[in-house]
Formats: sequence, structure tokens, C-alpha cells
Amino acid sequence: MIDRSAIDTLRADFRLRLAAATTDRDLKALDDAFLSRRSGSVTALLKQVASGPPEERREFGRLVNALKTEIESALDGKRAAIASTRPPAGAVDVTLASRQIPMGRIHPLMRVRQEVEDIFVRMGYEILEGPEVEDDYHNFEALNMPPDHPARDMQDTLYLGVPIPGGIWGAHRGRVPEAQVRTATLLRTHTSAMQIRYMKTFPPPIRLIVPGRVYRRDNLDLSHTPMFQQFEGLVVGRGVTLADLKGTFEAMVRELFGDVKVRLRPSFFPYTEPSAEVDITCQSCGGAGCGTCKHTGWLEILGSGMVHPAVFEAVGYDADEVTGFAFGMGMERVAMLKYGVDDIRLFYENDVRFLEQFPL
Ligand SMILES: [Zn+2]
Repeated sequence: MIDRSAIDTLRADFRLRLAAATTDRDLKALDDAFLSRRSGSVTALLKQVASGPPEERREFGRLVNALKTEIESALDGKRAAIASTRPPAGAVDVTLASRQIPMGRIHPLMRVRQEVEDIFVRMGYEILEGPEVEDDYHNFEALNMPPDHPARDMQDTLYLGVPIPGGIWGAHRGRVPEAQVRTATLLRTHTSAMQIRYMKTFPPPIRLIVPGRVYRRDNLDLSHTPMFQQFEGLVVGRGVTLADLKGTFEAMVRELFGDVKVRLRPSFFPYTEPSAEVDITCQSCGGAGCGTCKHTGWLEILGSGMVHPAVFEAVGYDADEVTGFAFGMGMERVAMLKYGVDDIRLFYENDVRFLEQFPL
């Protein structure tokens, strides 16, 4: 006796499982479970046909074969349906969430440099860069710093190992023979050396700034690094006065820091006369006095002065015809004041946690 209800049970079971199938793998499993030659449940029913009573074989065989055909075409249909929803090979899934790409940003020192350059370009200045390896003549001598000037001491300046026999190394405390001093090479201690190179090449009038790295024998601490960056500025022409210097700084400081006051304080530099330190009102306390400004209400931002006649003489300008002013300003100093950074070393450690605090 053949159990016909087994056919209906299988059909119901197949339909349930087909409805739940969503992948090619599910379909393969269904195919195996129902149609495989060895273990498929429909195959097993077909085998029963031969062993059934002769009068029932024909009808039963027809029903099982109908089920088999139904299952095959249902599997084919679903296979085609799944294939039609699959994206073509290599397609981009535009619905996927985007990957986060780490964004680089402009270093705070570079930001300050660009800002200062923009300010001076708008005022008609040229921007120049110069060599970081200088000779003594351009770095010191032509800037009115004679061979025994203390700034030339090896304690302050990084000299380079050039072949100067018995040279400046052993003799730095005493007077060094002129020829040796003039040819000694060093890492420039200020970008002022470019003043000399420029004035020796071009006649006045001059308006230029020289941004760049400079080197001094300093130990690392909160406010010193052996390498730092500077802007040198130089203006030369007929009738350039101290008032022009002050007006220029007021314009620059207003753009850099907003509404702050500027004050000139007498100072001394060998290459300017008179010389002045330039202070701005402390932004932290608005001039009332606080820890940042050491309770003075003022912060020093640059050194400046009227170009010393000896410098004009060194480059062949007529000091009776032209006057000028020069200034030097530390980029780190400006960045520290502008962004409230209290440790200069942070600018050179490249710690992403620090750098990420600056806007893109
Ligand atoms: Zn203050």
C-alpha cells in the first residue's frame, strides 16, 4: 500500500522551505534535500513506486513525478529571482556608509606664516627665502656685528665643520683672523642675512619679508628650540621713518590679533639704530595684568628698528639718501599668542592630538 499523503506532506514542506530561502546556498540545500539521487525525499518516493501494488503504480508514479517537476521549476524560478537582484560584478553599492578618511590639516605654524605673508603681500611686500646655511659675512659682519661680538660665540651659534685650519673653533673667545671669520659657514641665526644679499643685488626702494628657519644653540624648554622660524622684514627708501615702522606694525597686529594696542619699547640691536621691542596688549587679561603677561599687561612680539648706517655702508647704499626699518618676528611666538599655546615644543612633536585641535 502506498501512502499518498506523503506526497502532500512533502509538497507542503517544500513550499514552506522555499519561501524561507533567500540565497543560492539555501536553494542548493533544498535541491539536495528533495531531489538528490542518493538521499532526496522525492527520489525516495519514486523508488517506492516500483515496490507498490501494480494497480497503483501508474497513478502514484504520475503524482510523484508531478511533484518532482513542480519542485524543479520552483527552484529554477527562485534561482532566477535571486540572480536578478544581485548587483553586476564590480558594481559599487552606493548605499554603503562611507569610510572615514583621516583629514590632514595645515600646521599652525604654516597657518601663521600664510597669514603674515598675506598681510604683507597686501601691503606691497615681496616674499623671499634665503639659504639656511650662511657665511659669517652675511649673517654677522655685514649686519654690524664685528668678530668679537658675543652673538658670534660658539655657545650661541651652530657653526658647520668646514675646513678652516685651526679655525674659529679654538679661537672663538679671542679675535679671529679676518679671512677665517669671513669664510666660516654656519646655520643662520636669523633671516636678516637675506637683507644683505638682497641689498647687495638690488637698489632701493625695498619692501620685503623673509620667512624661514633659523638655528641657535638653545636647549629645548617651554619657550626655546634649537630651530625655530622667523619673519625678517625690511623697508628701505627715501624718507622712511620710525612712524612708518609703527604704522606698519599696527596694521599687521590688527589683522593678526584683532583689536589690540601696540607699544614700542627702546632696545638694542647691532644692526638697527634706534632699536625697539614691539609689545601688544595681553589678550588674556586685556591689559589688566595676568600670569601670561607676567602682570605687565603687555606681550613682546618682535624686535625692530631703523636700519643702522653701517649696514647701508656694507651693501653700498648711501645712508644720506635712504633710510629704512627692519624687524624680526618669531612665527612660534605669534602662533603661541594667537592660539594660546604655552609650550613651543608642541609645534615640533607632531602629536596628532595637538594638531587636530586646529581648524581644517
Ligand atoms: Zn595678561
